[in-house]
Amino acid sequence: MFSQSRYEAIKAQLPPQVTLVAVSKTYPAEVLQQAYDAGVRIFGENRVQELLPKYEALPKDIEWHLIGHLQSNKVKYIVPFVHMIHSVDSLRLFNEIQKQAAKAGRTIQVLLQMHIASEETKFGFDEAELLTILESGVMQNAPFVKVCGLMGMASFTEDTEKVKAEFAGLKKTFDTIKAKNYFPGKDFDVLSMGMSGDYLIAVEQGSTMVRIGSALFGARD
Ligand SMILES: *Cc1c(COP(=O)(O)O)cnc(C)c1O
Repeated sequence: MFSQSRYEAIKAQLPPQVTLVAVSKTYPAEVLQQAYDAGVRIFGENRVQELLPKYEALPKDIEWHLIGHLQSNKVKYIVPFVHMIHSVDSLRLFNEIQKQAAKAGRTIQVLLQMHIASEETKFGFDEAELLTILESGVMQNAPFVKVCGLMGMASFTEDTEKVKAEFAGLKKTFDTIKAKNYFPGKDFDVLSMGMSGDYLIAVEQGSTMVRIGSALFGARD
């Protein structure tokens, strides 16, 4: 269930430049509607199959963010309406978004997902790999994709020093890319990091966008 008081408390902890994405995966549309009625307009979902019916059922002024791993063959279903894709973790996926966005005549905002955790299972680029791609210019020659920044997920651990170091590393990569001005004339200003368990650390390390699920909606099954 959505908790208005938890929502207000979390918002009060976030500096004004930090955007809150309410991660509503696994919760039914009625629960999202409660959040909407309390003023939430930015929702994050991690699966296309779950996002599509929610998009159909809920008000059209919602900004939908796709935050989970995205298969190239599913891109076409979300391109007509998605506000931002946080999980661009391969050049192949990037190219598919460019192709489908061109077809739809829409520019899609994306974040490049970086692998910062020690767990093998988390997706994303490493810094050297991404810098090579950026040097090549392919991402700059994609007029229907707007690269707005980076996203990362820290290790799932109680070790807050480790989490802090991972977020600090992501912020450093973000600053490096920003300083190289790979996207002249476009804003590269979104750093999506921080979830229910670690958003305060992320904000302290320079996050501009936090993705919070269970702290707003309660534990998932
Ligand atoms: C589920 C999820 C979140 C939110 O997780 P909580 O711990 O419930 O806040 C954030 N980011 C991604 C990519 C997720 O899949």
